[in-house]
Amino acid sequence: MLLNKNIGFMDNTHFFPFLLIAIVFNSCTPMKSSLSLNITQSNIQIIQQIPLGDPSRSNNPLYLPPREIEKNEFKSKKLDQLIDTMYSVMLKKAGVGIAANQIGKQLQVFIIEAKGDNPRYKVLGPVPKQVFINPRITKVSDKRMNFWHGCLSAEGKERGNVATYEWIEYECFDESGNLKQGKLDGFASVIFQHEFRHLLSGTYLDVANHFLSKTELDYEIEMGKIPYFDIVSDTLPLLISGYRVGQTINDYHTKK
Ligand SMILES: [Zn+2]
Repeated sequence: MLLNKNIGFMDNTHFFPFLLIAIVFNSCTPMKSSLSLNITQSNIQIIQQIPLGDPSRSNNPLYLPPREIEKNEFKSKKLDQLIDTMYSVMLKKAGVGIAANQIGKQLQVFIIEAKGDNPRYKVLGPVPKQVFINPRITKVSDKRMNFWHGCLSAEGKERGNVATYEWIEYECFDESGNLKQGKLDGFASVIFQHEFRHLLSGTYLDVANHFLSKTELDYEIEMGKIPYFDIVSDTLPLLISGYRVGQTINDYHTKK
């Protein structure tokens, strides 16, 4: 009898008004704020990392797939405002790169820039400001370099030694929606891959297995005891491991 009752409920005359209510309700549901370009808070905080295996990752923008910027969102005031906000937060924190999900936005946008006077990275040379939207890596070097990564989302955490490709070629869009292609090497390639890792979800803390405090690191580098931006073997964990060259960020999140 119960089965008959259920079939009765799915009868067209009963189902139609129910469906209508569902459609109306859906169209009134506002877009999740982490998926919108709107910046509502004035005091932006950098989202801090959550350890591997912690269930709270599953609803934190730092670990959720970011969406692509849509065609109609390019050349918009909202996109400009988002990028300006990200950039000012990055400068305030003396970072050399920032990804949108670090300020709670699940969007495929990041910025890199290292000024020549940043004492932390002076020896590595300046990197001009560049914005990457809906990026993908199209080609990589055979050689890999090590680097001791820190992160604005890993305040108070140790630096981690991981590998990145010596150079990469990329494809992305600029703020006006024009397709951009280019090649990065040196420090620019490291920062690009660090920010790209954020869009793949997670940070260097999930990948590295060799950590040092900032003080230990400075000492070891000064004494020449450890590699610092040198060519390394395949045994050092790769920061963007799991990503297949050519994939879009969407491909990575749906096929991983
Ligand atoms: Zn970072």
